[in-house]
Amino acid sequence: MRYQFKFRPYQRRFLRSLTTNHGKWDIREGIILRLTDESGKLGWGEIAPISWFGSETIEQALDFCRQLPEEITDEIIFSIPDELPACQFGFESAQEWVSGGDEGDKFITPNSSLLNPNFSLLYSGLLPAGEAALNQWETLWQKGYRTFKWKISVDAIANELKIFESLIHTLPSSAKLRLDANGGLTYEEANLWLRTCDNLKANAKLALEIEFIEQPLPVEQFQGMLELSTSYETAIAIDESVATLGQLAACHQQGWRGIFVIKPGIVGSPSRLRKFCHQHQIDTVFSSVFETAIARLAALKLAAELSQNNRAIGFGIDHFFEQEETWLQSLCNNL
Ligand code: MG
Repeated sequence: MRYQFKFRPYQRRFLRSLTTNHGKWDIREGIILRLTDESGKLGWGEIAPISWFGSETIEQALDFCRQLPEEITDEIIFSIPDELPACQFGFESAQEWVSGGDEGDKFITPNSSLLNPNFSLLYSGLLPAGEAALNQWETLWQKGYRTFKWKISVDAIANELKIFESLIHTLPSSAKLRLDANGGLTYEEANLWLRTCDNLKANAKLALEIEFIEQPLPVEQFQGMLELSTSYETAIAIDESVATLGQLAACHQQGWRGIFVIKPGIVGSPSRLRKFCHQHQIDTVFSSVFETAIARLAALKLAAELSQNNRAIGFGIDHFFEQEETWLQSLCNNL
């Protein structure tokens, strides 16, 4: 199959800048792409890299788009190199869109089902770090969230353990809590957190579930996490360690049987991801890369298809950007 190919870079400012352990993030840059097949049918895709998390940079993605001819083939799409995982995702999902349903033409009318897809998925809500979590979970609860994520290793461990103690006694017993360390704990600290969570589990008075601790140790300390994952009852999810499909396969091959956090927008080829998940039946949590509705739709489809154990997904239903609909509509109409 042959497709007419068009693309357009975008930049959008976060409503509030995001603080990560890689510094402040103010502007999300990405690329919207459009494929038109021989019958005139459209398919949309999005490249939304996060280079500091392990994908290509926006410049590398743009260079790739610029060197492509105006007409491209399936062969080109399915042979994008592994060094460009966000491109693999963007092009393949556009290709799937053209060759799949008929949504391409209905797209980009406000309130369309594409901008507000109706998958029956559970969402996890991000609590603010530190003490602020204690008085903000309620707002999220009212919005319907039942799974919460709280960032740890932001402050001294003694302080965080104290806040944690209050948090678990404040949250409703039907809530689930995830702790995300973003690779910031030492081996001893990780043991302390896991032991604390195991003790809570043993304490029958507490019904609240600590679902898992996410990426306790840095990526280089994979063996340490592997060890921890077999030493405690509390589950561990790896995130930073498995940014791309290659890393996912490597960790699985080295024996990881815990949870894998998958960010479809940067993990690479959706078709190969499907194959891998089906073949190995891995336990997954899907998560966003602050993409627009275009990549989000493709990512949510994958999440709906591949999620197991009814785990909540990390796609905020809150808005990180202004006026998504009109903005995206005019961007696509001008392509
Ligand atoms: Mg994480």
